[in-house]
Amino acid sequence: MSLIVQKFGGSSVRDAQRLRNVAGIVAKAYDKGHDVVVVVSAQGKTTDNLIAMAKEITAKPSNRELDMLTSTGEQVSAALLVMALNEEGYPAVSLTGWQAGFATDTNHTRARIKRINKERIENELDKKRIVIVTGFQGINRYDDITTLGRGGSDTSAVALAAALSASRCLIYTDVDGVYTADPRLVKGAVKLGEISYNEMLELASLGAQVLHNRSVELAKKYNVELEVLSSLEDLPGTIVKEVAKVEKLMITGVAKDDKVARVALIGLPDKPGVAFKVFSLLASSRINVDIILQSVGRTDASTSTKDITFTVAESDKQAALDILQAQASAIGIEEIISDSNISKVSIVGAGMESNPGVAAKMFEALGESNINIHMISTSEIKISVVIDKDLGSKAVSAIHAAFEV
Ligand code: ADP
Ligand code: ASP
Ligand code: MG
Repeated sequence: MSLIVQKFGGSSVRDAQRLRNVAGIVAKAYDKGHDVVVVVSAQGKTTDNLIAMAKEITAKPSNRELDMLTSTGEQVSAALLVMALNEEGYPAVSLTGWQAGFATDTNHTRARIKRINKERIENELDKKRIVIVTGFQGINRYDDITTLGRGGSDTSAVALAAALSASRCLIYTDVDGVYTADPRLVKGAVKLGEISYNEMLELASLGAQVLHNRSVELAKKYNVELEVLSSLEDLPGTIVKEVAKVEKLMITGVAKDDKVARVALIGLPDKPGVAFKVFSLLASSRINVDIILQSVGRTDASTSTKDITFTVAESDKQAALDILQAQASAIGIEEIISDSNISKVSIVGAGMESNPGVAAKMFEALGESNINIHMISTSEIKISVVIDKDLGSKAVSAIHAAFEV
């Protein structure tokens, strides 16, 4: 029989009862004769709680120690799941990231997997054991524990599925698939039977939490077909693959990201090379910039100035401000303003390219709901707007309704 990878998120393993439920799903696959490798997340809100504990001690914990701390959550789930399986008479073994062979780069709290040394897992499978692997973590070349970024257990699962040439990668979660919008936010959200890697990648990158964006990137790169499905109900989920069956939708989904911040640089010299200085500074600190807006230059008295506004992840805001503040006089920035009270709301859909008027329809829905747009960015298959945070959910519902998805 073939090898399958199953991944269970935090709510699916949150307590003893849910762990027994997961053990049942895993055991069923094993009984069918599959080799089964399971990736687990930390229980419930464990990772949030661990980070809160660090923040009680210091406002700026070291990233190495944060990884040491947060990686413990997954270890608890893995050991408990093995115990639940053993209780039912199934042979199983838990492995941490390094035991399972996850070698990553050295970027603490946002590490990337470089390779997976499969020997240990393969040895355990040869012994007919179910292998339970801690998600979200690996080890770098200094033998230090690293983590893959929030939501990173999905990426652990897809990377394993690729490395082990699994026939299936099943992402079990607390919703029964990928919807046209967060089903907890939009009552009329519709479950998608299939979605393409490209559209899923955009949705995940734009805030649809259901899959970690790196996991979709890896799935696309290694052609791993994913299924997102419920750990609580036995229903078919959503298949993520190269070419999805075309549904007659102008857009595939609406996503919202509340964890963004806007930084405005006021009064920059209006001359060549300024944008380069600003963004190379940010890039050298590995800060990802998303939407960028530059004003037209203006000349007052003898000087020509312009403003540049951009968005970054909320978690990068302080670092961005610190770096720019330190270089403000060298670059000639008059003033730096930041704002975390914003939301980025986006629509995604491959059908957009061939449908003119999609942007107008989105802006109409926002206008009718009296929602002001601060920034806009578009690509072939997405349109994003930045609006006030308190209007984020209203915007998602209004846009979703306008497209009748
Ligand atoms: P897990 O703990 O299993 O990794 P997550 O909380 O990370 O689960 O992701 C699942 C959640 O993603 C759902 O509970 C849902 O609220 C949210 N979500 C956001 N956008 C979507 C979407 N388009 N389709 C399905 N779920 C979504
Ligand atoms: N436990 C980690 C987190 O909460 C990883 C994950 O759940 O995927 O971000
Ligand atoms: Mg998740």
